[in-house]
Amino acid sequence: MKTRYEVIDGSSRDEERIGRAGKILKAGGLVAFPTETVYGLGGDALNPASSRKIYAAKGRPSDNPLIVHICRWEDIHTIAEDLRGTAKRLADAFWPGPLTMILPKKEIVPPETTGGLPTVAVRFPSHPVAQRLIEAAGGYVAAPSANASGRPSPTTARYVAEDMDGRIDMILDGGEVGIGLESTIVDLSGEEPMILRPGYVTQEMLEQVLDGVRVDETILNGKSPERPKAPGMKYRHYAPRGELSVVEGDASRVRETIVRMCAAAEAAGKKTGVIATDESAGAYRADSVKSVGSRGDEAAIAHSLYRILREFDEEGVDVIYSEAFSSRGMGQAIMNRLLKAAGHHVIEV
Ligand code: AMP
Ligand code: MG
Repeated sequence: MKTRYEVIDGSSRDEERIGRAGKILKAGGLVAFPTETVYGLGGDALNPASSRKIYAAKGRPSDNPLIVHICRWEDIHTIAEDLRGTAKRLADAFWPGPLTMILPKKEIVPPETTGGLPTVAVRFPSHPVAQRLIEAAGGYVAAPSANASGRPSPTTARYVAEDMDGRIDMILDGGEVGIGLESTIVDLSGEEPMILRPGYVTQEMLEQVLDGVRVDETILNGKSPERPKAPGMKYRHYAPRGELSVVEGDASRVRETIVRMCAAAEAAGKKTGVIATDESAGAYRADSVKSVGSRGDEAAIAHSLYRILREFDEEGVDVIYSEAFSSRGMGQAIMNRLLKAAGHHVIEV
């Protein structure tokens, strides 16, 4: 398949470009598009054949459900039941934006889209290109992140192309995304709201709207749940090709350990990489030292993490050592992705 590229440049021709992409989706094709979190790989959420194509293009196991994207709050009622009005309250506070809600699904949503589950994940993104595309596609676009299964989510159209060129109909290039990590997922289908994936919208933010929001305990402890609530939880994810370890503990010991391990890896003929901060980057000698930004700047860290993992791949780095970051606020999402990328390989010092 030849993949078409359309660049959204803010000109009057954008409407036409988005219209073409919408037609592809309506006809059952696949289009990658920018959102405020990461690039999504879209297909018509109500068409089972489109969902099957998404799984095939990503190489994603078909029991790992897709998020359905909408472009008007009211449209949630077509696909999901807001039993207790909690979705409405969260939507008033956080939509459009980087929050996905899990609710009991309605009949119209095919099991192919929800991995066979009786629930559906719904999100109303704030990115204007995403909103216009969803509208042009008829209102319901299933879109997981536009990476090959297991690889870091793409934050630019070029990274989408790396994984998806020749596998999908079109890539809409809307520039680099803003947030850089996937949406927060909150499950509203049970007794108590439960965060299944941390993200930009933090537990503290959700608690200001709902009383009592729990975080699934498997998120940070690294153990794979036997019966994962979000099927995505059981799969390795976000991983670079090099072997990544996270070094955690007292800051100066972390630096000493990483320096020592890099020297040992280098002596063994390996190409080494380090994920550091602006404050620490100068301390390391490795083939490639990358800073995620200033240690306290969570937004910057979230924004650069996936790009850095992909850059190490491009450079052919064999072993990567990363400092651990704070897991407060959005740091919880950052550490969740970093630990998953490392296959939970943590060195405590
Ligand atoms: P992605 O869009 O690739 O970032 O992945 C979507 C995530 O949402 C996956 O981890 C899914 O397991 C999760 N998800 C989607 N639908 C549901 C659902 N109905 N119940 C639980 N988790 C879901
Ligand atoms: Mg994903």
